[in-house]
Amino acid sequence: MGIFKKRTVENLGEKKTDMPEGLWTKCPSCGESLYESALAKNLRVCTHCSHHFTQSAPERIAALCDEGSFEEMDNHLQSLNPLGFKGYLEKVKANQDKTGLDEAVVTGCATIDGQPCVLAIMDFRFLAASMGSVVGEKITRAIEAATKEAKPVIVFSASGGARMHEGILSLMQMAKTSGALARHAEAGLSYISVLTHPTTGGVTASFATLGDVILAEPKCMIGFAGPRVVKETTHADLPPGFQTAEFMMQHGLVDIIVARKDMRSTLSRLIHYTNSGGHAKRAA
Ligand SMILES: [Zn+2]
Repeated sequence: MGIFKKRTVENLGEKKTDMPEGLWTKCPSCGESLYESALAKNLRVCTHCSHHFTQSAPERIAALCDEGSFEEMDNHLQSLNPLGFKGYLEKVKANQDKTGLDEAVVTGCATIDGQPCVLAIMDFRFLAASMGSVVGEKITRAIEAATKEAKPVIVFSASGGARMHEGILSLMQMAKTSGALARHAEAGLSYISVLTHPTTGGVTASFATLGDVILAEPKCMIGFAGPRVVKETTHADLPPGFQTAEFMMQHGLVDIIVARKDMRSTLSRLIHYTNSGGHAKRAA
């Protein structure tokens, strides 16, 4: 008789996903259903397995900077659709409405534990944080402001790569951002790069991997081409953990893996160390 049929544990788990959208989020790593409010309070890290969910730029700014210290810069720049890519500007507008941001990166000056720095934080929600001319220009201007004001620069990367809608102009941003970093380095200033899930394509191949110190969030994906493309091109089986932060640290690309709860204190220590002259001048 149906009345005696018990719901299995699996069924109960599935039931939770039927909850109104926005109340619960299912962890893709351990499968637990998490209260959205509890997840937000825990810096969007799973309370069961420490899986790091994607964090928005405003959430990162709130968690990292001294309260009220962040002053945004260059939030007026707009893509002009130089290639006439059909539907591109509508897509940009839809992403602006969805995220409340003007583009896929937020830049500005702030203090961390009272120490001035310039920050650029990419937001994956906005067109997969792809790098078009506005993203590249905003990051370049942020680095140039840091050079002018003799401040360290911190860039949080997360990107699907160069933005295809702007073609070669997107690829040009790789050289432009790298050039600005070279001039920042020539001035003897430090650059901390933080890789978050996922950092790929032209962003990995330019400013994201040029840090004096390169930090990464646990288990985030870091690569140029995706694993499927690499496998099909090389006709080789990929090693376990390929393109994770841990794999990249083992192979020398990443210096430190930092859990999100320790990110602010780690950045604070690194800024303090570099500001006190404890770092060697980087070769440009
Ligand atoms: Zn989890």
